[in-house]
Amino acid sequence: MAKESIRVTFLGGLGEIGRNCLALEQNGRIVVVDAGLMFPEPTMYGVDIILPDFRWLIERRDRVDAIVLTHGHEDHTGALRYLVKDVNVPIYGSALTLGFARHRLSEAKVAHDLTFIEVEDHERRRIGPFEVEFIPVTHSVPSAHALAFHTSVGIVLHSGDFKLDLTPIDGRRTDVTRLAAIGEEGVALLLCDSTNAEEPGFTASERSVGAALRRLFLERPERRMVVACFASHIHRVQQIINVALEQKRKVVLMGRSMEANVKLARKLNLLHVSTADIVDVENIDRYPPGEICVICTGSQGEPLAALSKLSRGDARFLKVGPDDTVILSSHPIPGNEWSVGRVIDDLHRAGTEVIHSGNEPVHASGHARQGELRTYHQLVRPRNFVPVHGEYRHMVHHADLAISMGLKHNHVLICEDGDQVEVSATGIRRSGQVPAGFHYIDGSAGDLDERPLEERRMLAEYGLLLITGGIDKDRGVIVEPVRVTTRGWFEGERDSELLELVTSQVREALDNSLRDGERDASSLNKVAQRTAGRLLGQKYRRQPVLLAAVSIF
Ligand SMILES: [Zn+2]
Ligand SMILES: [Zn+2]
Repeated sequence: MAKESIRVTFLGGLGEIGRNCLALEQNGRIVVVDAGLMFPEPTMYGVDIILPDFRWLIERRDRVDAIVLTHGHEDHTGALRYLVKDVNVPIYGSALTLGFARHRLSEAKVAHDLTFIEVEDHERRRIGPFEVEFIPVTHSVPSAHALAFHTSVGIVLHSGDFKLDLTPIDGRRTDVTRLAAIGEEGVALLLCDSTNAEEPGFTASERSVGAALRRLFLERPERRMVVACFASHIHRVQQIINVALEQKRKVVLMGRSMEANVKLARKLNLLHVSTADIVDVENIDRYPPGEICVICTGSQGEPLAALSKLSRGDARFLKVGPDDTVILSSHPIPGNEWSVGRVIDDLHRAGTEVIHSGNEPVHASGHARQGELRTYHQLVRPRNFVPVHGEYRHMVHHADLAISMGLKHNHVLICEDGDQVEVSATGIRRSGQVPAGFHYIDGSAGDLDERPLEERRMLAEYGLLLITGGIDKDRGVIVEPVRVTTRGWFEGERDSELLELVTSQVREALDNSLRDGERDASSLNKVAQRTAGRLLGQKYRRQPVLLAAVSIF
C-alpha cells in the first residue's frame, strides 16, 4: 500500500440492503464504520440473521482503533454483539445511537467491558489515525451522522443514511452548509447512500406524514386508532403522539422495543410526552375507543411483535375489531411483503379497518432520492466516488448520477462486498479483495455456512430419499432387499412407479459393483446414491437430499 494513500475495505452493504460495515485504513491503522445485520429471505430456512464476514477484521484486531456508528438502525449496529467479542475497541456515536446499541448489547450480555464514547453534532475528534467530524443528517431515526474523515490525502466523506428534509420534526436539518464547506476543503472520496438512487424527485418530508395522520384521526373521532411503526422512528412516534393529544386521546404503547425506545428517547430529551398522557395497556378498557391511540411495533409483519399478536387476537388486554382503525405507518422492507400482507388480512378478518402506505400517505422514506443526491454531489464535489448502501442496481444508478454531475468514469467505482480500494492524490483504484460472504446465524444451531443451508433448501423443495439394504460380504450378494423410503413426497401412483424404478436401478447397480469385486461399504453406498441421484435428477428434475445406508455383513 502506497504511503500517501487511504485504503477502504467494504465488508457489507454493497449489493444488499443490510449488514453495513466498512474499514478505513491509513498507515496500517484501521477504523471501522458501522457493524450491521441483515434479515434473511424466506428461503434461507432457519436463518435468523445474516452478518458480515468479520474474519479479515479479526485477523487484524491489533490494528483496529475504533468502531464509529453513523446511526442506530439494526442494519448499522445489529452485528456489534458478534464483532465486539473479538474486536473490543471503543465505540463512538451519538447518545441515541449508543443508547440503542448498548441496549441490545446488554440484552446479549456482552456490554460489560465495552467503552462507549458519546459525540456531539459537529464535534471533531481524533479517532485512530484520523480526525473524524460528526455532521448532522436527517434520517428515519434521530441523531444520525455523516462522517468526515480528515486524512493525509484529503477528506473521506461517508454520507451515512440520510435525506435532505428541510422541515424535520426536531428542526435538526442535514448540515448542508458544512457539507459545502467540506466540499471547498476537498473531498478525496465520497461514499454515499444509494437506497433511493433509482427514484426520481425528492423524498417527502417526515412532516407530511403527520399531516396525513392528523386528517385520518380527525375523520374518525369515535374510533380507536392503532398505529404501527418502527420503534426506532422516534420522530414518527412523536407525530403520532402529537396528533393523539390534539384530539384528547391517551397514548398506549405496545411492544417491548417501543416501550424501551420511548423511555430512552424521553430520557435524552428527544421525545416529548408527559407521563400523565400515557396509559398502561392493562387499563385500556377504562377509556372509550375514541379516547385512545395505541402505538405499537410490528409494522413489518414480524410474527412475535405486537401488531401480529393483535391481528391474531393473541394480545393481552386488547382485542381489535370493528371499532378499531389500524394504520401501518411504514413500507414493507423487500422480503417482508408476504408477512405484512398476512397481518393485513387477519386484521380485516377481525372486522378492523386497515390503512397502509398503499392507500394513504402514511409513510415517508428516510433515504434521499435522485434530486437530493444531485444536490449532495453538487455541494460536496468529490474527486472520487463509490456508491454504498444499496442493491447492485441502486449503486449502478447512483454511479450514473455521479457521472452525469461531472465526475469522470475513472473516478467512479462500483464496488461489492469484499472489494478494497485505494485513494491517493491522483485517483482511486481497486487494490484487492477479502472474504465477505454471508455469515448466517441460526438462533438454535449457531453459525451456518452455505452447505447446510443448501441442504435445507433441497429438503424443503424436494424432500428426502433414503436407500437401505444389506449385503453379504463373503458371498457378494444382496441379502436384505434394497428399499427406498421418502419424506416430503406425495405418495401417489406416479411416485410409487418412480420409486420402484429407483429401487430396481439401485439394485442393478449394486449387483454390478459386487460382481466387479467391490465390497467396501462407503463405495457401495456411493454407487447407490449416485444411481438414484442421476435417475431422479436427469429424468425427473428432482433433487431430494439422498442418504444411502446399505449395511455390509
Ligand atoms: Zn441503513
Ligand atoms: Zn438507517
